[in-house]
Amino acid sequence: MDCDCIQACPFFNDRMAMKPAMAGVYKQNYCQGAFNECARHLVMKALGKPAVPPDLFPNMAERANHLIQAAQSGS
Ligand code: SF4
Repeated sequence: MDCDCIQACPFFNDRMAMKPAMAGVYKQNYCQGAFNECARHLVMKALGKPAVPPDLFPNMAERANHLIQAAQSGS
C-alpha cells in the first residue's frame, strides 16, 4: 500500500538535498510498503510535518524515535 504522504513527500519526489544510493529500494520498501516504519512518517505522526528534519531518510527510525522522545520529554 502506498504511503498517504507520497504526493507531497520531499523524499519520494527527490526534493531532498541528498539522495541516498538506496533511494529506489527505500521507496519500494517504505513509501510503497511499510510506510508505518518510515522515520519521516514516524516523526510526522508524532510531532507534525514541520518537525520532520530535512535530512531524515526513511531508514532512520532510530533517529526518529530519539527526536520524538526528546520532544515529548521537553528537552
Ligand atoms: S514512507 Fe516516508 S519517505 Fe515515503 S512517502 Fe511516506 S513519509 Fe515520505
